[in-house]
Amino acid sequence: MLYLLPEIYQMKRNIRSPRKDLDRLRLNLLQKQILNIFENVPFYREVFNKLKIAPKDFKTMNDLRELPIIMKEDIRNNGKKFLNEKMNLEKCFHSFTSGSTGQPFMSFFDKRCWMRKKYLSKLRARFACGMRPGERVAIFESEPAEKLEILNRHHFLRNLFLKVTYFSLFDDMEAMLKRLIAFKPQNAYGPQSYFFHLARKIKKTNQSLPFLKRIYTSSEYGQSHVTQFIRNILHVEVYDIYGSTEFKEVAWECEHHQGYHINEDDVLCEILNGNTPANPGEIGDIVLTDLRNLAMPLIRYRIQDRGRMLAESCLCGRTFSRMLPVVGRASEYIRLPDGEKISPFHFTTSIEKFKGLLQYQLIQKSETDILIKVILDENTGNETCMNIKKTIKNITRGRMQIHVRKTDKILPEENGKFKVVKNMIQKKHSP
Ligand SMILES: [Zn+2]
Repeated sequence: MLYLLPEIYQMKRNIRSPRKDLDRLRLNLLQKQILNIFENVPFYREVFNKLKIAPKDFKTMNDLRELPIIMKEDIRNNGKKFLNEKMNLEKCFHSFTSGSTGQPFMSFFDKRCWMRKKYLSKLRARFACGMRPGERVAIFESEPAEKLEILNRHHFLRNLFLKVTYFSLFDDMEAMLKRLIAFKPQNAYGPQSYFFHLARKIKKTNQSLPFLKRIYTSSEYGQSHVTQFIRNILHVEVYDIYGSTEFKEVAWECEHHQGYHINEDDVLCEILNGNTPANPGEIGDIVLTDLRNLAMPLIRYRIQDRGRMLAESCLCGRTFSRMLPVVGRASEYIRLPDGEKISPFHFTTSIEKFKGLLQYQLIQKSETDILIKVILDENTGNETCMNIKKTIKNITRGRMQIHVRKTDKILPEENGKFKVVKNMIQKKHSP
């Protein structure tokens, strides 16, 4: 564990390092990773041989573009070829990556990388956003309460810096609130949709949670008026975090909430249109390269999220570049009767313009039907519903029946994540 001390010191410095130092560090890490995949990862050894390239050819960051873009399917189809053959997997840590279609796969992490990604990078970002040692943190997880109780009992190491208690997303909210009020956390961590329900409950019952200062949400969802609602009702600061099971935390909002700082000493982020780099500021596919994980290094991994880079430097003075994810990977394409696919982003940008709309979910129920569930604030009425209907009708070029339904609750998926655009017939169409 002592080896972590210089690492912690360095990590703290990196966040505000001059750009040229940071770039040198990143190139150095990339070159080490390239050597690792060439020597130890069969999939990449084959790629290098096929392309007739060697690690010494990687002289600049742009040379990374020599390597192919990989996707979830490549990993599923190639199984063990993505694993470091010299590493004992039994000594590695792992996470399950689920998928809306097909089988999940397991991501492996070497111990050092796991400590960094699972604890140090997160602590660095949380402390940058105001969390202080010794504070209490409530973490809301999509696991059954019994399992989390075991975690709550074995807490010695975790509680060295912070006092952490896990709560289940599936617990009854009344019972959860009693426990939360007894614990009095300054910080809470979980899906945005959950805190939205919590805020509505607090508003309805005229309660307050005065101890709570900050909420950290996982970027499942990103509806700005939902964030605003949580902020106003719970009187907290809300920081969103962008990450994935395969990479853990990738980027996070600082106190200025102008995009997300990328953990650039852990991960490289490219924004691509097809296979070519998107222009600065242009929306494209997010493609990530892991600079730290030696056990199962994902290089140029298309994560199925969209986003864009922000060019200007942040007012906070941190030098890590910023990006803006535009719609969570949980969202799905909508398919018109003639087979044309429409990106979820098209719908979300149009719907979110409507004032008084607190939360919504757009669901393709059949080949020809779209249902939009909406939760509106008290002062908003049928006119908004009519306008939403008209907007979606236009986007689908009049080829779908649009139904708008006012509701009081929109449930997340079984895994606790929220799909803002959901296609219930997608599986039938998928290969
Ligand atoms: Zn900043």
